[in-house]
Amino acid sequence: MPGIHGVHVLGSESQVHILWDANGVITAVEPCQQGPNVLRPTVGDASCGEVAPMGFDGQGALVLPGFADMHTHLDKTGTAGQFSPQAETLSGAVKAFAEVRNSLTPESVYVKALAAAKRCADYGTTLLRTHIDSYYPDQARLAGVLTAIMAVKGQVRDSLDLEMVLMCPTVSDPVWAQGLCQIAPQLAALGGAPGLAPDPARNLRWILDQAEKYALPVDLHVDETLDPDANLLELLADEVARRRFPFPVTAAHVVSLASQPLADQRRVARKVSDMGIHIVSLPQTNCYLQGREKFGQGQRGLTALAAFQEAGVDVAFASDNMEDPFHPWGNGDLLQVASLALYAGHMGYGDSEKVLRAIAEIPGQFARGAGYGLRPGNPAEMVVLRASSAHEAMARLPAERAVIRQGKLIHVRGLTRRSALS
Ligand SMILES: [Zn+2]
Repeated sequence: MPGIHGVHVLGSESQVHILWDANGVITAVEPCQQGPNVLRPTVGDASCGEVAPMGFDGQGALVLPGFADMHTHLDKTGTAGQFSPQAETLSGAVKAFAEVRNSLTPESVYVKALAAAKRCADYGTTLLRTHIDSYYPDQARLAGVLTAIMAVKGQVRDSLDLEMVLMCPTVSDPVWAQGLCQIAPQLAALGGAPGLAPDPARNLRWILDQAEKYALPVDLHVDETLDPDANLLELLADEVARRRFPFPVTAAHVVSLASQPLADQRRVARKVSDMGIHIVSLPQTNCYLQGREKFGQGQRGLTALAAFQEAGVDVAFASDNMEDPFHPWGNGDLLQVASLALYAGHMGYGDSEKVLRAIAEIPGQFARGAGYGLRPGNPAEMVVLRASSAHEAMARLPAERAVIRQGKLIHVRGLTRRSALS
């Protein structure tokens, strides 16, 4: 039976084998004592597209569910350097992108977004969510960008699932809302950045109205500032409770919570937990953008990780911007994002497993529920890292990886023959 033998997975002391059927569905994840079997190719020896009917020899590698990057901006990617002066704050970046936006064409968006999506796939991401700007001067331009992203989605479908989130305008726009009925079936969620609106609370409620109308989850940019008075997260939790909002809710950034007194953090974190709101933290962009105002005394732009942990709220880490006015670097490697979160979040020796879960299983389950992860009945979708434990993965950040999707080897990056994993 196809599978991968002799590998480590999170939460298990002993090596396991992961078996899947001919349809690429996992049938077993069980302890395995077998030594190497010369008849089995290693993932480094195999060629892409290979199914390996006898399974792969995993050589003690660490296997995780495919990385799930819940928050990127593929429509903006690759525009760093096309604006002046350099932005370096959120408001500066918003202004800079308003200039850049007018020079984008569907072709330029397609080329850059495709390159970025392929990079993410190469690093082991099998589920990628992109937020798409709505603030184009005319509907035709927005339609061109959406067409480009949908073409990318089709182009990369064998490597990853690309999910689209359309960001709502910051002021209620009935014409825009009417056009939503055409694109709504293509969307994974409705997005927006109510904190940038002239009336944030009103904008937040309007976005929830639209989501209810089209039966869509919401995935919002929330409180992307260190200003402790920004507390849209609590308003979001209260609104979700008041309306009994029936679809999944994701709040990304929520940086200001970390600037608030501990008692407030705990109150809001409990509400978030009660409402089942998903939290996505974007350490790269937010450590770049926030805290520059206080020269030499800047706080880091990261949410209140400790309060969420205390309240039992799972937090996912994602990439956010890549090479654009909001964040001039970023290569789509979620292992790099997890590493930054370890440092910026003041985590310790035992936290490697936690950050690996936060880039794979947790965000995958935000998007897919229990159907994501290394369990029987789920798709055989996994990334193989040249490391024997979570700690080793985070200490060495191995560039060498292989990606298996629907039971087939689809990417091999730098893993060479048998000695590579010894
Ligand atoms: Zn974002």
